[in-house]
Amino acid sequence: MIDFSMYELKEPKISAYRCESCGTLYYPAPMVCKTCNCRRDPVTDRGWEKFDLEGPCTLLSWTRLWNLPEGYTKKNMLFGIVEFENGLRASGQLEVDEPKTGMKLVSTVVESDERPGNPVKVFVFKQ
Ligand SMILES: [Zn+2]
Repeated sequence: MIDFSMYELKEPKISAYRCESCGTLYYPAPMVCKTCNCRRDPVTDRGWEKFDLEGPCTLLSWTRLWNLPEGYTKKNMLFGIVEFENGLRASGQLEVDEPKTGMKLVSTVVESDERPGNPVKVFVFKQ
């Protein structure tokens, strides 16, 4: 892992949400909890706990993309869908040599500026 502390930069994170009324976890954040109908204020997030979605995960599905949009310098990229230990699922880039459904991975987050526009935070799953 890269040591960001020497640059005084915060390691990028992607947030998931927990409904404080019933404890249901979400990623991405919904406007209304489907379990208890509790509303989320998109500005204050009151009644909802935000936490970093990170750590060990399992690869559920993956694909290799060719014909990448203009601006990418690679020939192809791997994308995968993973399930975290808390049951939440997310998609992101896959950086493994031979992906296999069911393999254990670790999630990291990078600020990607590979495509036009502002950098966006994306998940990168590694072994
Ligand atoms: Zn709820």
